[in-house]
Amino acid sequence: MILKDSKALADLNILLKDRSEIVITTHQNPDGDALGSVLGLFGFLIKCGHKVTVITPNDYPEFLNWLPGNDLIIDFSKQKSFAEYAISKAQFLFMLDYNDSKRGGEMKEIVENATCTKVMIDHHPFPQMPVDFQFSFPVASSTCELVFEFIAGIDGLSAMDKNISECLYTGILTDTGSFSYNSSRPRTFEIVSQLLSFNINKDEIHHRIFDNYSSERMRLLGFCLNNKMQVFPELHTAFISLSMEEQKQYNFSLGDSEGIVNYPLSIKDICFTAMFIERKDKIKISFRSKGTFPVNIFSEKHFSGGGHTNAAGGESPLTLAETIEKYISLLPDYIKELTKQ
Ligand code: 5GP
Ligand code: MN
Repeated sequence: MILKDSKALADLNILLKDRSEIVITTHQNPDGDALGSVLGLFGFLIKCGHKVTVITPNDYPEFLNWLPGNDLIIDFSKQKSFAEYAISKAQFLFMLDYNDSKRGGEMKEIVENATCTKVMIDHHPFPQMPVDFQFSFPVASSTCELVFEFIAGIDGLSAMDKNISECLYTGILTDTGSFSYNSSRPRTFEIVSQLLSFNINKDEIHHRIFDNYSSERMRLLGFCLNNKMQVFPELHTAFISLSMEEQKQYNFSLGDSEGIVNYPLSIKDICFTAMFIERKDKIKISFRSKGTFPVNIFSEKHFSGGGHTNAAGGESPLTLAETIEKYISLLPDYIKELTKQ
């Protein structure tokens, strides 16, 4: 079992024996794994008697606001002074589901400058953040899976309960696309099996996350696939873009673009997809692939981003049209890698 037998965990366990003030944080634009892992760990550390504050850099989609502990989350972008105060008093700062302080968004500096004991629990490759305890395991499906291992390693699951299990199940579910990728390790399913034993209703969780679209979001999906998707069969690539004007037309709200980038991967022989979303100050990009094409390396090299082999993100300071032009001009350089899939 990964993590459980590590010496670092045993050392940290000794430090956590005393009641401490702890802050747990995650990356900006938190997703299901980010929130599930911070709230799952929150539920556990509270039970261990610690004083715990969860801080997210900014807001997150509505379909995640039912998670147990959600009401106690501090949004850094709205409650800066309180968040800074909590971090200044903390003895431990847990950083979950990210491994580069840049991903902390507005919290980047405060996280970098914090002098308390820092603990990273994460499954992204290439960690780039100096911390005191680094639990970095890219083979894991999700950070939630690692938080399960962390809890199991610290107290053998005696504190595990339904609320913590719901949080951790949510992150495994969302980071594996409902168990369609990143989930071939038997251990992932052993953990899911243990989570189910705490009487969580997995069908209900699926329903809360995936059956929560507005009608506009559904129409936006139709618009993206029908009007905005461009397919380059010879390059095994397809992409979608959305301007601010188009987002306005569909009453776009946080989380509405979630998952749309995956759809073109269902086209036969398409193995690389991208989605470009125009924001006020930049173009936010999502990349996905099937097979071995490493979108994290592509994104890091050309669009200041990173992530996993098959799912990554990045950004561009250019206009939407210029960003797309740059992307298209890069594709021929990758023809060999894309064709061998
Ligand atoms: P998404 O496309 O869903 O926003 O992100 C997919 C994956 O890429 C996630 O694992 C996320 O952590 C990572 N990611 C997204 N945006 C960025 C970025 O700007 N920089 C880096 N390093 N990773 C990103
Ligand atoms: Mn994750």
